[in-house]
Amino acid sequence: MGSTPLIQVDHLTKRYETSADATPVLKDISLTINSGEFVAIMGPSGSGKSTFMNILGCLDTPTDGKYTLNNRDVSQMNVDELAQLRNQTIGFVFQGFNLLKRVAAVDNVALPLLYAGIGKAERNQRATELLEQTGLGRFTQSLPNQLSGGQQQRVAIARALANQPKLILADEPTGNLDTQTGSEVMDIFTRLNKEQGITIILVTHEADIAHYAHRLVKFVDGKIVHDGGVQAA
Ligand code: ADP
Ligand code: MG
Repeated sequence: MGSTPLIQVDHLTKRYETSADATPVLKDISLTINSGEFVAIMGPSGSGKSTFMNILGCLDTPTDGKYTLNNRDVSQMNVDELAQLRNQTIGFVFQGFNLLKRVAAVDNVALPLLYAGIGKAERNQRATELLEQTGLGRFTQSLPNQLSGGQQQRVAIARALANQPKLILADEPTGNLDTQTGSEVMDIFTRLNKEQGITIILVTHEADIAHYAHRLVKFVDGKIVHDGGVQAA
């Protein structure tokens, strides 16, 4: 662990075709992230962090350059292959939790297993175990609006874990949480990274949150201006 590249980005450029402004949003980015790393991404609003995360997550494609995920050249893959690679490899966590509002916690967590074609009994069992892992064993039948923000984010993390991902991509996962709740969520990421070797990449505005990571990448205006220690957060 620690020396196998999971993510390799070479001379990546992104320009939004819909944008009237022809300036690229990401400019010639090259970066390698090894399996087992815990990386924080920081940078001003509009510097391209979410665009970069979306490309890493195979939710969007670069205009130029090469992206290799888990030894697969993403630019050579069609939509179905991309969806399969994404589902098998990546768990997503968002600032707004993105839970289905009318569906109990256990069924939110089981959703990726439903898409993977797993039967109801096994889905329920695995989703319940995942909720226990994130400290929500008592809340399996709760609806999202019956849970606090921190609890909802822990449901979202359990859901992200459903397909046993190698990689978790979290775009400002503590952005809607108070400091105490945010640090509880960060403790879960820390444990997943340490105990299960899951690679974690998270975007944050807060230095205190970045300090949970082992490596800091800073973006300014679509370019990497720092790649190294988190003391620079
Ligand atoms: P960050 O996450 O660092 O705040 P983003 O990646 O969201 O930055 O945005 C970077 C730049 O790209 C911004 O100028 C933003 O307005 C622009 N942008 C983001 N998404 C789109 C889109 N879908 N179409 C056109 N421009 C976009
Ligand atoms: Mg963003």
